[in-house]
Amino acid sequence: MSPARPFREALIDLDAIEANVRHLGELVAPAETMAVVKANGYGHGAVDAARAALAGGAARLGVADLAEAVALREAGIDAPVLAWLHDPDADFGPAARLGIELGISSAAQLERAAEAALAEGPGPIGVHLKIDTGLSRNGIAAGDWADAVALAARLERAGGIRVTGIFSHLANASPETDAAQLAAFDRAVDEARAAGLAPEVRHIAASAGAIGTPAARYELVRFGISIYGLPPFGDGTTSAELGLVPAMTLRGRVAAVRRVAAGAGASYDHTWHAERDTTLALVPLGYADGIPRHLSNRGEVLIGGRRRRIAGRVAMDQFLVDMGDDEVAVGDEVVLFGDPATGAPSAEDWAEAAGTIGYEIVTRIGSRVPRTAVGGAA
Ligand SMILES: *Cc1c(COP(=O)(O)O)cnc(C)c1O
Repeated sequence: MSPARPFREALIDLDAIEANVRHLGELVAPAETMAVVKANGYGHGAVDAARAALAGGAARLGVADLAEAVALREAGIDAPVLAWLHDPDADFGPAARLGIELGISSAAQLERAAEAALAEGPGPIGVHLKIDTGLSRNGIAAGDWADAVALAARLERAGGIRVTGIFSHLANASPETDAAQLAAFDRAVDEARAAGLAPEVRHIAASAGAIGTPAARYELVRFGISIYGLPPFGDGTTSAELGLVPAMTLRGRVAAVRRVAAGAGASYDHTWHAERDTTLALVPLGYADGIPRHLSNRGEVLIGGRRRRIAGRVAMDQFLVDMGDDEVAVGDEVVLFGDPATGAPSAEDWAEAAGTIGYEIVTRIGSRVPRTAVGGAA
């Protein structure tokens, strides 16, 4: 098969990621940009996304798990990396050896980071202390903060850690709750400084806060979904309105074509019936590939220059598209979603139809779909 016409493929435009990061960086300057490449770069490929983001001016990278940070180091990426979600039994030795910074959400994590650094060196582990300012998820609880900063100051003097950052995470619940979180954050930073800590960077904003709330930018912002060209807001704001270009195009080839008579049922449970004689095109991606089953009879794809509705249930490996009387042939290209400027549905359109967010659409593309990166330095 010609590689230019893949059966299934997620095409990743690295130039789009680079341009998105550059655009976002200009928006928030003088604050620095951390590019978040967790979860395999939101499904785009973590190493490729990281390199494109660094080329676009990102100063730092962020991931959830330490193992994700180690994988970036193993790929030869030596930019500052922060990992913030830890297995209770995590071995922080790799952070010490590979110079990976740790987001810290408990006293126990602080102590284990210091122990790992003193045992495995070469120097202290850089840590960013996380204060819970109201998301009620991870982070040190406000009531434990005074003890935590005192412990951090002690461990810093002993040479096991260096507190390079203090951070938190916004709930994006309302402007008022965001403002309350910023005030709690400022108090926590003041307390940390009073305890003798001198963090270089404060950061609380992910994409939504960084774009929408200038007061939340501090010295550093953490851009995730927006570097991949998708809006963070879920309120109908488009990528284009934010100056962003979606980096992922999910596509495939029509695997079969069938003419059916009026009244024919299609796919499992016959939730769809032909209203008139029509042509069905079979698309070889299903929920195993990350196509939400909720798109059954709701989602749209681009075939032959027009958007068409999914007919019947999305199955594990495939779904049908109602083509009406239009021409379609086995092997024709299907664009499931991509840049709406090309006429394709956007990941946001899919999210809307499936009752979810664009983040989930791109992040859940399955391992059976090869990712092909185009553009970038390579
Ligand atoms: C995932 C994540 C981000 C990025 O969020 P976006 O909304 O994708 O920009 C930032 N900070 C933390 C702590 C995260 O977990």
